[in-house]
Amino acid sequence: MDLGSYIRDIPDFPKPGILFKDITPLLAEPRAFAHAVDLFTQRYAGRGVDVVASAEARGFLFAAPLALRLAKPFVPLRKPGKLPHATHTLAYELEYGQAELQVHTDAIKPGSRVLLLDDVLATGGTVSAACRLIEKAGGRVEECAFLIELSFLKGREKLQPHEVFSILQF
Ligand code: AMP
Repeated sequence: MDLGSYIRDIPDFPKPGILFKDITPLLAEPRAFAHAVDLFTQRYAGRGVDVVASAEARGFLFAAPLALRLAKPFVPLRKPGKLPHATHTLAYELEYGQAELQVHTDAIKPGSRVLLLDDVLATGGTVSAACRLIEKAGGRVEECAFLIELSFLKGREKLQPHEVFSILQF
């Protein structure tokens, strides 16, 4: 099944010069959506992953069904002010300004092997911050997995020494 045919290119969104990879056609076709989750499941079943984590919001769409398939906990990484219990916080630089990600302090047991999942690997800034947050919370990043990798942005290099897996490369 050609999953790439379910990704729609939207030029100049959300700003001029960005070619946005729209995953909603894939989400709208249950066979394609299921196939993407199957591919992640095949790769990570039996790999000793303890936790599946993802930064809001689109990564949740793949991370939650994958966690169910693997029968492992799903841990949301969220923007400040969203998680109600005690949190670890990690601040990181954006192109313009700063952002923060949070995780509940009791979400990741020390030494847990964490699979980080997101929809698109672009520059890698968000997932690099997510890796640091997982480590701050006591976890170990097993691998960073993506539906789509925009190879020309070299996010894979930014995520070193973490392992990177992607289903589709553009
Ligand atoms: P980055 O931190 O640059 O890797 O990208 C942060 C997030 O922005 C990714 O997880 C994607 O959800 C989203 N994103 C960045 N660039 C694109 C793009 N060209 N198309 C779709 N989503 C994107």
